Amino acid sequence: MRLASSESRFLRQVAVPEFGEATQKLLEKATIALVGCGALGGLQAELLVRMGVGELRFADFDVVSLMNLHRQILYTEEDVEQGRAKIAAALAKLSTLNRAVRLVALNEKVTAHNINDYLTGATVVLDATDNIETRFLINDWCVAHHVPWVYTGVAGTSGMILPVVPGGPCLRCFYPEIPEADAIAHPNKDGVLSTTVAMAVSLQVTQLLKILNKTVQVGDLIRFNVWEPSVRVLKLAKNPACSCCN
Ligand SMILES: [Zn+2]
Repeated sequence: MRLASSESRFLRQVAVPEFGEATQKLLEKATIALVGCGALGGLQAELLVRMGVGELRFADFDVVSLMNLHRQILYTEEDVEQGRAKIAAALAKLSTLNRAVRLVALNEKVTAHNINDYLTGATVVLDATDNIETRFLINDWCVAHHVPWVYTGVAGTSGMILPVVPGGPCLRCFYPEIPEADAIAHPNKDGVLSTTVAMAVSLQVTQLLKILNKTVQVGDLIRFNVWEPSVRVLKLAKNPACSCCN
């Protein structure tokens, strides 16, 4: 059966005034690169493919395991049984959602060696990693290449989102030094709820849409707790001594 036109596909989202036809067109022209395809990346990918992004790049190097399933929505029990690579399972699932999207999968960890090839041409980069070193790598590449990116960290019932746009404060303005793993909350030691992930990705992908239509508030550091519940927006100023963005 032939699918209806893309006009009817996106009827309900373009009806939202903050989004509208203009943001839909920007999204359809955009190339979005995700670094990681676990809990954050899987939901980012599913939302963006369903919303009609132009090109989606996603990278991961892990295989699907049973303890992923409570929060990593792209993956299934069959993927665990087959020992599938996350990238292969993600590609199979995402391919069924919206055939108009160009999907580009990289079955590798994003490192200093491949980051340039992977991110060149991206309109916006989304953080979906679970380690702080990779986040600094993304930050430094994006600041140097004037590409916006959105930081997101989650653990337990809370999370933090920071859109980093050219000219605004960057992750190193917030963390002048890379913090020790023990000093920051992390799902490996603090656990994480799937509802925390869902709220983080909702806020993060909305920041991406606001970057695309130029309504993003530079320096907005969003902190939330899904359990309390609360959302607080703090203003992060550019650090004049930042080693990266000055
Ligand atoms: Zn900075």
